Amino acid sequence: MKTYNSLSEVQSDLFSNNVSCVELTKSYINRINDNKHLNAFLEVFEKSALEKAVLVDEKVKNKTAGKLAGMVIALKDNICYKGHKVSASSKILEGFESLFSATVVERLLNEDAIIIGRCNCDEFAMGSSNENSAFGKVLNPHDIKRVPGGSSGGSAVAVAADLCLAALGTDTGGSIRQPASFCGVVGLKPTYGRVSRHGAIAYASSFDQIGPLTKNIEDAALIMEVMSGKDEHDSTVSLKPVPEYSKELNANTTKFRIAYLKDCLESSGLDAEIKVRINDIINKLKAAGHVVEAVDFPYLDYLVPTYYVLTTAEASSNLARYAGITYGYRSANIKAASAKVAVTEGAAANDSDAASSGLDSVYKKSRSEGFGEEVKRRIMLGTFVLSSGYYDAYYSKGQRVRRVLKNKTNEILNNYDFILLPTTPGTAFEFGKKSADPIAMYLEDIFTVQANITGLPAISLPIGKHSNGLPFGVQLMAKSFAESDLLSFSKQLMGT
Ligand code: GLN
Repeated sequence: MKTYNSLSEVQSDLFSNNVSCVELTKSYINRINDNKHLNAFLEVFEKSALEKAVLVDEKVKNKTAGKLAGMVIALKDNICYKGHKVSASSKILEGFESLFSATVVERLLNEDAIIIGRCNCDEFAMGSSNENSAFGKVLNPHDIKRVPGGSSGGSAVAVAADLCLAALGTDTGGSIRQPASFCGVVGLKPTYGRVSRHGAIAYASSFDQIGPLTKNIEDAALIMEVMSGKDEHDSTVSLKPVPEYSKELNANTTKFRIAYLKDCLESSGLDAEIKVRINDIINKLKAAGHVVEAVDFPYLDYLVPTYYVLTTAEASSNLARYAGITYGYRSANIKAASAKVAVTEGAAANDSDAASSGLDSVYKKSRSEGFGEEVKRRIMLGTFVLSSGYYDAYYSKGQRVRRVLKNKTNEILNNYDFILLPTTPGTAFEFGKKSADPIAMYLEDIFTVQANITGLPAISLPIGKHSNGLPFGVQLMAKSFAESDLLSFSKQLMGT
């Protein structure tokens, strides 16, 4: 089967009877099987995908097919799909089956997308290299000795290696944009509150957003217009109406005002060729009549610490529910303890001491055995910054710094439409290069966390090619809820 690079290509063949959804789905399944070594998929939903494909083929015949007919899409393994397994790539959720579908999943299915499977990721979306999955690393298809980025590494690889047309990821600090950059695809993190988080396994709730990874801007726009908008299951979703992003893409020929952060371009960690490419884009944009100016952002060094203080605090609370009781993994090593839990359930008051030590042991052993090293590190860090002796020094200070960072970024965006910056300091690195040094790994996120700290939308565009042969992305950040401008300007930028 030929390679499809956009939904419109698929649909032109689909609506002229040159291909069927069943053929498309089978061909992607074959490609997934032929590329098992990449480890991008944890599971292919063969049965439900083919059933949906039959249904959509019928609707195509009857001319009742939805907007996403022919779109074969993958989910990151932290997005729930009723009746299907979801594990957040963690041993602690191994075998767990979703009892309901995420709002985004329902909306995609309503528009006739075909969900092909769930993609490997860093455990609980914590990581920048996909080396933190309990189910093995994902290989970068551009160079299998290198990481695909993380945490949505499987989703980015699935799109880059043409194992599906598009994928969903989640982005708490760069997890859509950074792997998109390393794998050469488009990755969009929406404004906080644009897309419902209902059914996304929480990492840091005031940062998390679901977004698309695609081969082009048009498909990202379409997925966004289908997924976005108010949801009674998530009160943080905005009531603002959702524009038809895909229709607004070409309409916009505005000359924009673009800021770039001197401090980012001059940052010592930035790869020289990425810097050259960004300067080249700046010059081309100026030549095309846009206003492009350097601005100061003196807080670059505060971004990563603020992100890690606040997200680990939220994670320590969100992950408290994995206790070996309600969900997934319970240590097999706690016979005596389980017996005591059973006692608690019909407990007499005087059993409570013994029972609580039994419960403690269930929690401790299940969590110690079920979580991986990075997740445990973050739970401990988060518990520490929230503890009574350190709360003011870390958590509450982190919140205050978050406000300063937001104000400064918004101040820039009061004068400019977009901020242009690198997505990542370098191209995909080799396995093992940073995994022994958490700080080096955390610094990978230096250019992506600003959008999450501030809640602003940001996109990584695959418009860089390094002399080492690897792709890299260039990032644009926009005003709150300015996805429409962001997408149409991205389309212009893809041509530069
Ligand atoms: N790399 C970042 C982290 O490790 C981002 C994760 C994410 O966006 N989910 O936290």
